[in-house]
Amino acid sequence: MSESILRVEDLKKHYPIKKGFFNRQVGTKYVVDGISFDIKSGETVALIGESGCGKTVLLRVLLGLEKQTSGKIFLKGIDISTLSKRERKKTYQKLGMIFQDTSGSMHPRMTIEQILEEALYLVGDRDRKSQYQKVTDVLLKVGLDPAFRNRLPIQLSGGQRQRVVIARALIINPAIVLADEPVSALDVSLQAQVLNLFMDLQENENLSMLFVAHDLAVVRQIAHRILIMYMGHILEEAPSNEIYSNAKHPYTKVLLIASPSIAKGINEESFHVGLKVGDTPDPANPPQGCLFCTRCMQAMERCYKERPERKEVSPGHFVCCHLIDEEES
Ligand code: SF4
Repeated sequence: MSESILRVEDLKKHYPIKKGFFNRQVGTKYVVDGISFDIKSGETVALIGESGCGKTVLLRVLLGLEKQTSGKIFLKGIDISTLSKRERKKTYQKLGMIFQDTSGSMHPRMTIEQILEEALYLVGDRDRKSQYQKVTDVLLKVGLDPAFRNRLPIQLSGGQRQRVVIARALIINPAIVLADEPVSALDVSLQAQVLNLFMDLQENENLSMLFVAHDLAVVRQIAHRILIMYMGHILEEAPSNEIYSNAKHPYTKVLLIASPSIAKGINEESFHVGLKVGDTPDPANPPQGCLFCTRCMQAMERCYKERPERKEVSPGHFVCCHLIDEEES
């Protein structure tokens, strides 16, 4: 079995809600509430959920920008959640980050070469000679002419800027890349180009990646495994093909139908899904039973009282839903 690159165990990030003159804690927001997953070498895992489900906070915790409330994070077997501040800084340099907002994540007055060299500088690589070659190599790797090194971000198209952002994540030779909605801001044809680039990198560079997105259609070609996140929890986890051909959780089915390119091939009636009208519950006041019960069209009496446990329905396919028990009985 290939090596585990990133392993997250029962990770929680809760925020106290404080009010009043004495700033007393009056509640807790359960934004990330017990997430576990494992990413192996060369594997791409997609984390899918609507905005507000906790995926951005999870990324911030993984990047060390926020401290978790509890739980463990292992990078190549080392528990990075217990390291000293200095050791943590070094370790976090092994994480390559790709942001959605390409313009905001690059200094407008720095050339592409300076942007890439700065990434090397930040991880302690200050050898000017080798930096020049590394910039050339990484630009070629992401499909850009090395002559682009002298351009400013504003002189590039949206797709080219996203390639530079990918190059900046790769130039430090990271253990794993964390990509936060990396194609959401691009139009469909540019999305396809960037996704093709990721597929090339998977094949040629053995890229390990956590790919965060809100749309299941986007990750169809590149994810090996998919995690469906809702209100700080993973409701379904499965190999990619299982999610598209044999989704079990009503929320996953809603997400599938919400993607026009996937929904075309689905008989919606056979899915028995839809959404009750209403907002996602407040993470400060989650439902007592199933987290999805306030929106699930298939909710039963039991769903409002009892939180479903995570069950393995086939190898590597885990679901949190009482319907699984009904199917089994
Ligand atoms: Fe719907 Fe009940 Fe399953 Fe929750 S446990 S997803 S409410 S059927």
